[in-house]
Amino acid sequence: MAYISTRGGDAPMRFGEAVMAGMARDGGLLIPAIVPDVTDRLEAWKDLRYADLAHAIVRLFTDGDEAYLRGSIDEAYATFRHPDVAPLVEAGPVFVQELFHGPTLAFKDVALQWLGRLFEALLAEADDTLNILAATSGDTGSAAIQGVRGRPRMRIFVMHPRGRVSELQERQMTTVLDDNVFNLAVEGSFDDCQAIMKTLFADLPFKDRHHLGAVNSVNWARVLSQIVYYFFGAFRAMERTGAASVQFAIPTGNFGNILAGYYAMRMGLPIRRLILATNENDILSRFFNTGEYSLGRVAPTISPSMDIQVASNFERYLYYRLGSDPSRTVDSMRAFAQTGALRVDRGLNGVIDARMTAGSANTAETLETIRAFHSSYDYLLDPHTAVGVKVASGLLSDEAPTICLATAHPAKFPQAIRDATGRDLAHHPMLDALKDAPTRCETVPASIDAVRAFIDERV
Ligand SMILES: *Cc1c(COP(=O)(O)O)cnc(C)c1O
Repeated sequence: MAYISTRGGDAPMRFGEAVMAGMARDGGLLIPAIVPDVTDRLEAWKDLRYADLAHAIVRLFTDGDEAYLRGSIDEAYATFRHPDVAPLVEAGPVFVQELFHGPTLAFKDVALQWLGRLFEALLAEADDTLNILAATSGDTGSAAIQGVRGRPRMRIFVMHPRGRVSELQERQMTTVLDDNVFNLAVEGSFDDCQAIMKTLFADLPFKDRHHLGAVNSVNWARVLSQIVYYFFGAFRAMERTGAASVQFAIPTGNFGNILAGYYAMRMGLPIRRLILATNENDILSRFFNTGEYSLGRVAPTISPSMDIQVASNFERYLYYRLGSDPSRTVDSMRAFAQTGALRVDRGLNGVIDARMTAGSANTAETLETIRAFHSSYDYLLDPHTAVGVKVASGLLSDEAPTICLATAHPAKFPQAIRDATGRDLAHHPMLDALKDAPTRCETVPASIDAVRAFIDERV
């Protein structure tokens, strides 16, 4: 498979190059030149084990014969504590697909457990090394650290805003003591961390000297690995209900998770529609309802991993929505950079996208959904998942069962669970065990020079 840029400026790349590059050099995002139609393989795929299904799907997007694919996929999904990896659970009127059985209890593990191993294999082939620099507001940092810890060809530097991630999230990162893991508590905000990261990636001599790599969700391998659970979940739901199609509800921040569903739909998986759910930070649901993608201010909520206004993966969707036309994509993204807004016209049927329905849920609705699902169905939703469940609850269908993606284990957000239920219900032995574990972390000022010097000293 060849990879091209959404902005049309780069020569086609191979799969391995696209994974190592992360982004296109022309500022666009890398996408597969063709989205394969797999309609005639669905029957053969429907009973595959998760790792086998992952292999069947992933190989279509690579050059097909990479020796490391099989092993890296098997190993990545062996770290999950559930034999189905992404099991489907019935909760009242919906299915919940639990994506949180990986090492850090959030769905980021699905992609990052594989990406760490994929990087390692590609680096071994090239006899090279990589220094990963990441900024995190919570879940990405710990998942990336778990994917990379102990791998000899890689170091990882993770910046988090000091005192502004939850104590549990901080412990999930700082209790990892491997020599190749460096936690930096930056005396500033998440925006400061992200600005430092962007500046260091733009410092080309520094970037080249240290072979700097990125693990954020614009990396194609992250999206690719997430396509798999849409197939797996749809097969399970169709088997249990006898339905011929399904719909998915996806709590959304950077548009990474739902984009994978969009690819699954384009590949021919019978998805009736995708239900996009946001919290109060609703730039994406406003877009799908009005056609206008315009910046608002980021408001902190109880589903912090969705407190995002500029969705880094949106450009991939936009490219397809604009007729796979790179020049229209460039124009739209330029308008957005200059004015903070871009517009897409309604289609002939009067909607932005007939197969995408969007809505948002506020804090009170999210807490009420957690409470109601616990008392009615004895099922505990984390606040991110609850946003998706709430939006889906008004959009249920008789023909197509609804699968709500569960993106985190509720024990990661104990305060929201207490606020919703009045009880201290959310525990997980893995998180409880972190309480007394030793930690390692260095505090640095929110300064580019300080972070640059830190990396220079360690590499
Ligand atoms: C990252 C994250 C999300 C948002 O996923 P996107 O791919 O950014 O849309 C939702 N829930 C949880 C728990 C997350 O960690």
